[in-house]
Amino acid sequence: MAPPLLRQLRDDPLGLGRAARSKRSERLTPRTATADRVVQSICPYCAVGCGQKVYVKDEKVVQIEGDPDSPISRGRLCPKGSASEQLVNGPSREHKVKYRRPHGTEWEELDLDTAMDMIADRVIATRAETWEQETDDGRPLNRTRGFALLGGATLDTEENYLIKKSFTALGAVSVENQARI
Ligand code: SF4
Repeated sequence: MAPPLLRQLRDDPLGLGRAARSKRSERLTPRTATADRVVQSICPYCAVGCGQKVYVKDEKVVQIEGDPDSPISRGRLCPKGSASEQLVNGPSREHKVKYRRPHGTEWEELDLDTAMDMIADRVIATRAETWEQETDDGRPLNRTRGFALLGGATLDTEENYLIKKSFTALGAVSVENQARI
């Protein structure tokens, strides 16, 4: 048998086929081949909005790849988008609400109902304290500048729609999204 270098030059000069395989890699099956279904989605990380194919097995996300059908990205993902499976399955993903009290130095874990009640109480109180009904010369304002929203790029279109509607209904005038900045 010819030495490995000669075999590669003869059979697989680019090193993309047989030369790159081992006995172990030949036994492996990609997660994309064993998924139950594929769902088209959009990378949540930035405003480019690259198309993604999300591979699902047993109702769990197992792999995310670029979507060749996307006119935006044509199958490509940057390193962040390529790693977005970790956004779902990564061990450092937070599953509990973290709260740091004013002047606190440690994070506390809160249950979701408690956190939502705290947020609602503060929104109501701030709105009442900072409400501006009209200008000094009597023109209507009906607004508060007491709170604002800065959304993240991981919000999807529907979430952004609902957030904008909710904050405008509350009288907030400062509503922005990181993806637009
Ligand atoms: S793959 Fe990269 S460039 Fe594309 S939307 Fe995601 S973060 Fe933005």
